[in-house]
Amino acid sequence: MKAHNSEVGVFVRVRPTANFAQDLIECLPDGQTVNICHRKTSRKPRDSNKSQLSSWSFQVEGVLQDVSQEEFYNQVCRRVVLGALDGYNGSVMCFGQTGAGKTYTMTGSTESYKQRGVIPRALQEVFQEVEKRTEHAFTVHLSYLEIYNETLVDLLPSLRGTQHPSPRGMVVTEEPGRGVFIRGLSLHPVHSEEEALNLLFEGEMNRIIGSHALNRNSSRSHCVFTVHIESRSRTLSDSKYITSKLNLVDLAGSERLRKTGSEGQMLKEAVYINKSLSFLEQAILALADRRRDHVPFRQSKLTHALKDSLGGNCNTVLVANIYALYSALCRQNEVSPG
Ligand code: ADP
Ligand code: MG
Repeated sequence: MKAHNSEVGVFVRVRPTANFAQDLIECLPDGQTVNICHRKTSRKPRDSNKSQLSSWSFQVEGVLQDVSQEEFYNQVCRRVVLGALDGYNGSVMCFGQTGAGKTYTMTGSTESYKQRGVIPRALQEVFQEVEKRTEHAFTVHLSYLEIYNETLVDLLPSLRGTQHPSPRGMVVTEEPGRGVFIRGLSLHPVHSEEEALNLLFEGEMNRIIGSHALNRNSSRSHCVFTVHIESRSRTLSDSKYITSKLNLVDLAGSERLRKTGSEGQMLKEAVYINKSLSFLEQAILALADRRRDHVPFRQSKLTHALKDSLGGNCNTVLVANIYALYSALCRQNEVSPG
């Protein structure tokens, strides 16, 4: 297998909001630069009417503003999905605050077929390719994992009883030859797009039910939908199986709760999320740094579970979902930047 570019591709997707807010996020015509304007308010009461505008500029592989779900999939995700069919592990991860459009991007809106997100589009593409690539025999399995406060939850617990849940729950495990896998997480064989979509729908329902029944706010957990692909040449009689994984990840909301403003469960969730997101950041920075040969994957369940789909011979895309929220406030107290 040829060496593959192991750098992480970073994209920004800007969710549409009312016009007045757009001035906070400036997307430059090069399609790769986004400037963010932020208003800092003084905490001191006597300075309360003073605020400062500061701005940051970010350079990424692509800034996508007002793009349709179809354009987004084609520009950002398609190559990762096709790579998985060629045998390369891949991950697409959405990162951002609650309300920024992560779930819309990954799963999409049920309002219309046009608004379906990355996961249903990827499933469609996988099965279209399986039909087309007649020289290979493919097997496809799905799994859907939720990570809440460092606890692993199976969103598609096996109905057929083929896989007994381990009494000690699920664990991230590594075995030579098999790589990283989650012991106890059910893998479901699927033979068509329709079958795959039914499982996705079931997993989404379990995510919602879990959030009500067990008081798990679904925006406070990471959700990892994985397509496990196995292929073997039909023409070469002694050919080996090629396996790959495609992880489609809806990360927990990245908002930082003010230390004083949250307590109990909310605080606990925020602590776990901040930890696992900063471990993810550390792993990604280490991967991007060619001089480093150690990448700290085992510090959190998330990075450990994604280990062989982030580094090395694979395609990784990180999508930062952003939106402008505070412009109305910003306007009230307008001051010039600097
Ligand atoms: P998150 O998962 O990051 O908390 P959601 O995906 O739930 O955010 O998005 C919040 C709301 O904004 C939802 O009602 C969603 O349908 C809508 N939304 C998000 N992104 C877009 C978009 N690009 N175009 C239209 N509506 C969007
Ligand atoms: Mg969400």
